[in-house]
Amino acid sequence: MNPLIKEVAEFCEWAPATFLFISKNVEGPLIYYSHIVPVLFSLPLAFIIIARDYKNRLNQYFFLAVFLFSIWSFSDLILWANPDPKIIMFFWSLLNLLEPFIYVSIFLFVYTLLFKKEISTVILASLFLITSPVVIFLATSLEIESFNLTNCWREVTEGPLVFYSYIIQLIISLLVILFTFIYLKSTTETKAQKRMSIIGVLGSLLFLAFFSSGNIIGSITESWGVAPLYGLFGMPIMVAFLAFLITKYRMFKVQMLTAQFLVSTLGILIIGILFVQTVERVRLIAILTFILTVILGTVLIRSIKRDLEQKSEIEKLAHKLEKANVRLQQMDKLKSEFVSIASHQLRSPITAISGYASLMNEGSYGEVPSKMKEPIERIVQSARMMATSIEDYLNVSRIEAGNMKYNFTDFNLNDEVEHICDDLRAEALKRSLVLLFRKRVDGQGIVKADIGKVQQIIHNLINNSIKYTQKGAITVYVHDDIKNKKVFVDIIDTGIGMSAETLAGIFQKFERGDKANTVNVTGTGLGLYVAQKMAEAMSGTISAHSDGEGQGSRFTLELPLFL
Ligand code: ADP
Repeated sequence: MNPLIKEVAEFCEWAPATFLFISKNVEGPLIYYSHIVPVLFSLPLAFIIIARDYKNRLNQYFFLAVFLFSIWSFSDLILWANPDPKIIMFFWSLLNLLEPFIYVSIFLFVYTLLFKKEISTVILASLFLITSPVVIFLATSLEIESFNLTNCWREVTEGPLVFYSYIIQLIISLLVILFTFIYLKSTTETKAQKRMSIIGVLGSLLFLAFFSSGNIIGSITESWGVAPLYGLFGMPIMVAFLAFLITKYRMFKVQMLTAQFLVSTLGILIIGILFVQTVERVRLIAILTFILTVILGTVLIRSIKRDLEQKSEIEKLAHKLEKANVRLQQMDKLKSEFVSIASHQLRSPITAISGYASLMNEGSYGEVPSKMKEPIERIVQSARMMATSIEDYLNVSRIEAGNMKYNFTDFNLNDEVEHICDDLRAEALKRSLVLLFRKRVDGQGIVKADIGKVQQIIHNLINNSIKYTQKGAITVYVHDDIKNKKVFVDIIDTGIGMSAETLAGIFQKFERGDKANTVNVTGTGLGLYVAQKMAEAMSGTISAHSDGEGQGSRFTLELPLFL
């Protein structure tokens, strides 16, 4: 320390400051209180918010504003507490540097809050331009002239740069207001969203106003005493507004943590009173604490109330849903019963129609005039198709009612599949399709399953291939995997194939491919659903594959190998 300053320090009884800021020079704890509490109030919240989602721009700008403000607060405290002129000059300059940037960060925060988009480079560049002189000419901004030994105060002249900094502060405050108007004019957001943005802007503006008030009061009154300190309470005010937003609109998504945090900060505020010596200050701090308690308390109570209301609303809805679910299940059961009864009723007449029509066609009731042969054949075909559909409906209702019976026996799958191919070859030939049977089995090919159901599945798959193939061949290929005890029946065709979307849905009830109707209009969309359910009930599965429309299809039935 230079000898003159040392002398002054001794004369003024300046004690050196511990950790730069703890010193007896500070008159009363209000200075600590006004500098530390706002930081305690805001910095942890800013950390919580940035930790939650550090990529979010709004969170980033909020963090930046609070962080700069915290450094500012700490530097200002050092100014009050530390007697060393070098340190004072350094931190005083730092304050002058930080002030415009606090404004800039608040502007960035408000802009993002309002417009929810990245800030354009033009705006960023303009902000950079108007703030750059502060950085460039910072070193010339301050000068200690002398020490006033009547009050032990240093006389500092602030250069024109400091006033330039005030102008920036004014410009940015006006910009915040201007952009808020632009937002209000142009936004298409809902009322609730607008209210949320406006609360955020108001909180930020109040903070800026409070923050500047220190400088304004100081400049006007030429007294840099205690009054400017109250300006620092602007930060808790902004935080209180944000707390409101957080709890009401779940901005930043940290509702619960914030509530805990705010309650504990209030605790710190109240304990702070214990360290204040004069009654007026206790009163003042009590008023501040009271205002904060009322604001934050109301916000929290409201938010808890709303949560409770929502919870009971959800409970009511869940109850209703449960009832609706039971009713749906009953209706589903009724529907299955109805389908089952209706199908049974339909089955007998259709069997009669089909039977008599066949007999007529065969000439059992006398010679059929050649003109009538085709119509009768059509009756036979249609009746058969209808019988298949009815059988599908019946199967679905049996499956859904859990009434499908399975009669497990051991049988040779190769032989069964070969027989079915032999049966269906004529049908395929009618449509000029070749139906080939191939096998490559290492084991005996014995499965333990319901033979009727397996036949039905294979029938269904081959019939589908016939239905959905206009030319080419259908290859039925039986092969096994002894090691994994599995046997496979592939049904491969050169037909219309399936798109990925069609493939994704074909095993669902009533699901038919887009192209299916163009080739075959009479499907129910139930065949594969029933087949899959049956295969599953016999510990097997059916899978489908196609390289796309027009590329043919491959269906594979997989069953556990018994021997
Ligand atoms: P349906 O044939 O009565 O429409 P399915 O359940 O048997 O009902 O088949 C469902 C859908 O799967 C069909 O509508 C069709 O789009 C598709 N599909 C089934 N088999 C084939 C196949 N071999 N080739 C192309 N598409 C098929």
